[in-house]
Amino acid sequence: MVEIVLRKGKEKAPLQRHPWVFSGALDKLKGKPNDGEVVKVFASDGEFLAYGHFNSKSRVAVRLLDWNEDAIINTNWYEARLIQAIALRATILTTQTDTCRLVFSEADFIPGLIVDKYADFLSVQILSAGINSVKDNILHLLQKHLNPKGIFDKSDATARTHEGLTTASELLFGEQPPEFLAVKENGINYHINISEGQKSGFYCDQRENRAILSSFAKGKKMLDCFSYSGGFSLNALANGASQVTSVDSSALALNTLEQNIHLNNFDKTKLNVIQSDVNKQLRAFKETGELFDIVVLDPPKYAPSRSALDRAARAYKDLNRLGMLLLEKGGLLATFSCSGAVDMETFKQIIAWAALDAGKEVQIIRQFSQPEDHPIRISFPEGEYLKGLLLKVL
Ligand code: SAH
Repeated sequence: MVEIVLRKGKEKAPLQRHPWVFSGALDKLKGKPNDGEVVKVFASDGEFLAYGHFNSKSRVAVRLLDWNEDAIINTNWYEARLIQAIALRATILTTQTDTCRLVFSEADFIPGLIVDKYADFLSVQILSAGINSVKDNILHLLQKHLNPKGIFDKSDATARTHEGLTTASELLFGEQPPEFLAVKENGINYHINISEGQKSGFYCDQRENRAILSSFAKGKKMLDCFSYSGGFSLNALANGASQVTSVDSSALALNTLEQNIHLNNFDKTKLNVIQSDVNKQLRAFKETGELFDIVVLDPPKYAPSRSALDRAARAYKDLNRLGMLLLEKGGLLATFSCSGAVDMETFKQIIAWAALDAGKEVQIIRQFSQPEDHPIRISFPEGEYLKGLLLKVL
């Protein structure tokens, strides 16, 4: 096995069990590892640090796997971690929910692998050269432990390009999932399209937050911005919302939302679907003077990196200011950010700034996070990306 020695002073992160070693931290390579190969990483003084997957093409040159020198990174090693990840989801998968994230990469101690379960199908993302090199073993383990009808590769194209891997979107095993696959979450039925949907078909990281928000929805008029296939809208209707308006720019997302209304036998006269840019639509509502009891803002990632933070902060502020202005006095704003670069403290500051601009008093009545199928590994804060606030706007 090829041994890699780090530069003096670059040991801190691996010693704190952070799983990434950047290419600039490497000093000596005692051999020539292939991309995806397991290497042994040492501190500059020769102390063993960890085993990891090497990739010469990635900014993250080594993704650390195990800090125990006696470990053997073989099929059994992956199997033990996979079993542990599946066990963590045992309480999520019930008769009411058949869809969740089963493996969340670094946060589940298998850097480079994401597995989502959609009813009887699995969607995988292979995001590192290391996992790519053991893809067949992983597929075999997924079949053995989960017995899926089919496994689809829905790897995030940009992440794969950064790893020097070609993009992928193909059936890896079993049956092709139907064009519209029926799944269930919180007792609500959804159609998802694994091969064409955004991200990987469904945003299961909002499962708990949808349920929490819906408990405030009875008899209320709600505006669901960035609705996608209707996660927040449908939960609110199921809990007795009087009227829901869903706004998204994607026709495919809104078509799916309309199918989902049917699937659940909800009263379609209670739903109003608008295909538009949210910022434009919020301004249009402001002009007509239409107000809501609840506004949901669940935008896409505005800050893909730290360098985009300033611009993103202004975009979040403006969006939230408009959201606040469309509420009845005492209404609720459920506002989210899925940008890893915006932490909760920063998000609160942005919201405070929006409230000042809107001339509103605001109370935080709940704080939202990501659920246990998107765990946050304490040594890997980058994995904490979803945050949100439920605000009472006076
Ligand atoms: N709330 C959703 C997930 C939102 S994902 C759920 O519970 O499932 C973000 C959504 O924002 C996507 O559906 C995307 O089509 C939409 N979107 C992105 N930019 C937009 C814009 N400027 N205006 C309207 N919708 C937008």
